[in-house]
Amino acid sequence: LLSYRHSFHAGNFADVLKHIVSTSIIDYMLKKEKAFCYLDTHAGCGAYSFQSPEALKTKEFNNGIFPLWGRSDLPVPVARYMEQVVEFNAQSQLKHYPGSPSIAVQMLRDIDRLFLFELHPNEFINMCANFSGNRQIKMAKSDGLQGLIANMPPKARRGFILIDPSYEIKTEYHQVVETLIQAHKRFATGTYALWYPVVNRMTIDKMEKALKASGIKNIQLFELGLQEDSDQMGMTSSGMIVINPPWTLKKEMQASLPFLAKLLGFDNQGFYRIETLVAE
Ligand code: SAM
Repeated sequence: LLSYRHSFHAGNFADVLKHIVSTSIIDYMLKKEKAFCYLDTHAGCGAYSFQSPEALKTKEFNNGIFPLWGRSDLPVPVARYMEQVVEFNAQSQLKHYPGSPSIAVQMLRDIDRLFLFELHPNEFINMCANFSGNRQIKMAKSDGLQGLIANMPPKARRGFILIDPSYEIKTEYHQVVETLIQAHKRFATGTYALWYPVVNRMTIDKMEKALKASGIKNIQLFELGLQEDSDQMGMTSSGMIVINPPWTLKKEMQASLPFLAKLLGFDNQGFYRIETLVAE
């Protein structure tokens, strides 16, 4: 049933946005000495090659990470994310892309803990190979949304949860909102980031509406689009909805998204959204 493979898309403009927001959140959490937990509901395998047949087939990285590589004029939050990509490559050439769990592993301290969920059998095997021997990490080949609810609240009582589904099944848009509501009931102070693709705008409008009506407070939205909405073009834009964002996040996205929309957008059509869906 699961046919989505992230290796076709790693390092595209959606990953760029997702991982800039993630590094900004982790960076903020690292400022306090107290340990925290990182939970990735849809972790993928954690490492991707730009030379794989999958990556070369779509070449989506050409409208994502590649135009950013080697630039000296990056806004600070983008530069900090790029430091993670550089560290992962450990060389002067951009050959590999770190998935979300690799970025977290690079950034977290010994005291912090990671939970990674991945349902696809091969992706799970690759994930285990990439992170074997790391005792900070718990990996499970099971449904990440159920895993999220089961693990809330985390022992550390501080947490960053990344929810990054492949949305292969239409009901996932509804399911993620329901899961967020449940998880938030168990752990109201956690920082949650939900990634969404804009393939059909109405689906996202509905998701935003449901979150606004959920009773959850302090929700912000950050979106980066390469071209105008279109029902015929596949994913033209994608976003991150963040519950309990660090107070610094909005300012950091204000510094980053106009730059990215201009650099990556097609024919000056690039755009961004920075919105408070629900105030604190
Ligand atoms: N978060 C990763 C990153 O940023 O590098 C990319 C994840 S990719 C968009 C989504 C992943 O979720 C795929 O590897 C897919 O196999 C996996 N997946 C799909 N349904 C799942 C589920 N119910 N629970 C856990 N993983 C699932």
